[in-house]
Amino acid sequence: MKIFCIGRNYVAHALELGNDVPEEPVIFLKPKSALLPLGTQFNYPEFTNELHYECELVLRVSKNGRYVPERHASKYYDAISVGIDFTARDIQQELKTKGLPWEKAKAWDHSAILGSWRPFSDYSAKPSIEFSLQKDGETVQKGDSSLMIYSFNRIVAEISKYFTLQIGDLIFTGTPAGVGEVFPGDVLEGFIENESLFKLEVK
Ligand code: MN
Repeated sequence: MKIFCIGRNYVAHALELGNDVPEEPVIFLKPKSALLPLGTQFNYPEFTNELHYECELVLRVSKNGRYVPERHASKYYDAISVGIDFTARDIQQELKTKGLPWEKAKAWDHSAILGSWRPFSDYSAKPSIEFSLQKDGETVQKGDSSLMIYSFNRIVAEISKYFTLQIGDLIFTGTPAGVGEVFPGDVLEGFIENESLFKLEVK
């Protein structure tokens, strides 16, 4: 199982971190060990002093494939959830400044949080899918799939130019504006529309 992540897929988020809006999707990966197993406590990592949440819609790959054309891409995922791409922002800034890879900031153990799955068909007829993140009961991020620079299908097509898609792979589709810091004791809850799909306390 692979975890694909898309960076800078919302204009407002790219700008809030001082990045250019990308001319093609920014793709990076997390290893399987990045996924927090269900029921496991999430501990604030000792190597960072600036842990950020990034709430994102997540797709589950349902079909193996390579070189998937965009017009067929919707056949390659069947479930959707919401998750967090946890980021050690201080480490990422340092790596970006040096032009080094991001893994120490993004791909560490338990840096990927995943909510419960819903069938994609529940949402596929809608023009957009709204999602949000609450911190201690207050909404801190609000996203809407219609604001993505690169659509689900474009992302699937782009990823599959470089990597074989395999059943069970996950795709984190990028975070909207409003990323911010978390501290031990904070409770994060992720929603698609009004439905809570995960709730997590930072220990
Ligand atoms: Mn992200």
